[in-house]
Amino acid sequence: MRFKDIAGQAVLCNHLTESVDAGRIAHAVLLHGPTSSGSLALALAYTQYIYCSDRQHMDPTTDAHGLRADSCGVCAHCRKIEQLTHSDVHLLFPNTSIESNKGVKSSADQRNEFRSFLLQHHAFGSLDEWYAFLGVANQQGIVRESDADDIVRTLTLKSYEGSYKTIIIWMAERMNSTAANKLLKTLEEPADKTLLLMVAENTATILPTILSRTQQIEVPRVTSQTEWPEEFAPLFVNWMRMLFKLNMAQLSHQVDGLASMGREMQKHFLAYTSEMVRQCLLHTMAGTANGLHTGDERFDSAFPSMITIRNAEQIYRALNDAAYAIERNAAPKITFMQLSFTLSKLIKNR
Ligand SMILES: [Zn+2]
Repeated sequence: MRFKDIAGQAVLCNHLTESVDAGRIAHAVLLHGPTSSGSLALALAYTQYIYCSDRQHMDPTTDAHGLRADSCGVCAHCRKIEQLTHSDVHLLFPNTSIESNKGVKSSADQRNEFRSFLLQHHAFGSLDEWYAFLGVANQQGIVRESDADDIVRTLTLKSYEGSYKTIIIWMAERMNSTAANKLLKTLEEPADKTLLLMVAENTATILPTILSRTQQIEVPRVTSQTEWPEEFAPLFVNWMRMLFKLNMAQLSHQVDGLASMGREMQKHFLAYTSEMVRQCLLHTMAGTANGLHTGDERFDSAFPSMITIRNAEQIYRALNDAAYAIERNAAPKITFMQLSFTLSKLIKNR
């Protein structure tokens, strides 16, 4: 995992590489935040950067990802860490007995499954996805005493390949108290050149004595979907309702509002409308209850059926044509008025 593969966390990535370059690597670090925002991916990228034998440095103001540095991704250390086969990097995680493997006593017994899971989800998979991967719906995996024993044993061994020994504990909050207490001992007298990287979504259940011996780093939440401006949803709902009534005075007022937005915003709003239409079509075709989320319940339940396989394509085309016209400096009022008539007809003749 390289930092460039983690979207939306450049500030944190740069903070981590800076601390490594300055020789400030803490013995114990806790990254807390949603796995979907990259907390485990960050732990892996950080580890890879520490071991990399050919660290890359760039100008963050011109780098496409806003990064100041990253691991090379091709040296032997990088490759082994990317394949999760580096002999000095150990992974602990909530492990659990499954039907096909009843004898799971520690992370070591489930290492291959976890490796497949991580590679499949690029380290962004959630705990629920991990259980689903194992096929255990309600079973609660834990980081156990035997996992802590493995840590203690690992730390007393000499490192194989690098100068550092790293233990990454994913979902540290799923550690049972015996394991946590054993771990605490290693934190009290940290061995030289060891790094304990804990990753947690919720720190409330982690022993305060562990937290106090750990450098805590908050991983900000990143939303994977495009963020639409808040005003788009009510604007869209009003506009669509207007297309049914086709009251000219009200429609004209609505179009004035749309025409007064900047051109970029108008294009953005048309893209939003396309996305809503796409979701409606998915909803209609799948017959699922998970429709729109505009905040207007009546609209959300009634509107999706207006979009059918028969009118969707023409609606997309009308929206695209309007966006193209706006890009070419067409008068926005006329463009939105024409678009409104076209959409009104298409929706009514579904
Ligand atoms: Zn490298």
